[in-house]
Amino acid sequence: MDYEDFSESVPILGQKIGGDKVLKRSRQSSIKMKMFNTDHHVERINTTFTSPSMDREPLEKEKLEQIYETLEKVDDWNWDVLKFSQIADTWCFPILCLRLFLKYDIYRKFEEMNLDKWLNYLSALYLGYQFNNMYHNHNHIIDTVQATHYFYKTAGFENFLSEQDIMVGILAAFIHDYEHPGLTSQFLIRTKHPKAIRYSDISPLENHHVAAAFKLMDSDGERDLLDFLDQKSYKLVRKMLVYMVIRTDLSYHFDLLSSIQGKIYGENFPQDTLEDRLTVMTFTLHCADLSKPARSWIFYRGWIDAMMEEFNMQGKMEKELNIPISPFMDEENTNRERVQLAYIDFIVRDSIDILNILSPNPDYNNIIQRDLGENLNLNRKTLQKKIEGEVKF
Ligand SMILES: [Zn+2]
Repeated sequence: MDYEDFSESVPILGQKIGGDKVLKRSRQSSIKMKMFNTDHHVERINTTFTSPSMDREPLEKEKLEQIYETLEKVDDWNWDVLKFSQIADTWCFPILCLRLFLKYDIYRKFEEMNLDKWLNYLSALYLGYQFNNMYHNHNHIIDTVQATHYFYKTAGFENFLSEQDIMVGILAAFIHDYEHPGLTSQFLIRTKHPKAIRYSDISPLENHHVAAAFKLMDSDGERDLLDFLDQKSYKLVRKMLVYMVIRTDLSYHFDLLSSIQGKIYGENFPQDTLEDRLTVMTFTLHCADLSKPARSWIFYRGWIDAMMEEFNMQGKMEKELNIPISPFMDEENTNRERVQLAYIDFIVRDSIDILNILSPNPDYNNIIQRDLGENLNLNRKTLQKKIEGEVKF
């Protein structure tokens, strides 16, 4: 499939999206009229999504226009993740991914990329996220993907990443919790779950996410989305994806943080080496994964409920199994606001501060501190007021 076919397929080339260099190039293209024709996009998408298990209505033109509209502010930290998820529904993964790839000019860089395979893969991936998980479901993935994109594009990390790195970073965010059971690794280990046995208790969840995501690529030729890479590039991309996803295990947090702190206070970090780029990408994905307390209160509030509800479900299972209840998971004896305060103070705050120092965007000073740090401060105050009984929510 050549670039023009890609462009026709990408569902977000409407005039509402302005300012992209890709769009400017597209306007010069001989197929420009066709590219701005929503009917054509609808037809293309409906004929391309062939995932056999995906039971959904064909995409209507009005629906696609609504989805376009929700994507207008996808570069902003305050983008409404849940609104997009609700409107895009079963189309959310493929459309978000393709929209982001367009922003980074990925299609032009990789002309051999097979878009059909990406669409099929992402549709199948979406089905692997359990809707009955309160927290680790497709919404968490959309949120993490968008946060990764915000760090790359708005905070400027793309300046020292290649197009291939960016493709890997976005794909890593999409797959990083694939087939999450809504239970922690510790639970799997303590109950001697087959996944804990298979991975010898070493990050069993994360090992499974990345292994199963690769299996999904290989299991069907129609979803072999990385087949355009030569052997050497494929080997590298696989290595990077495995490395990044496994390090989303929170047990790596303090190691990641201290290693990156050491590098920052050393000299000339990051350099244009694979090691430094991978360190930055791993850290940005980790931050994207844990950045919900730095979202606006109206969004963060919902994530608190979701996270604590998933914890409670595990706590109930532990009670039924007559094993010790994990920290923060005993509904009757857990103060959810205190849990969140501790999460902010011991995990999230330092990560965001480091990311702010690392941020290379020359146009803004402290953009991460402005967008995320402010929210953290405000949310912290709100949580404290709730603990002191001043506010109800
Ligand atoms: Zn996650």
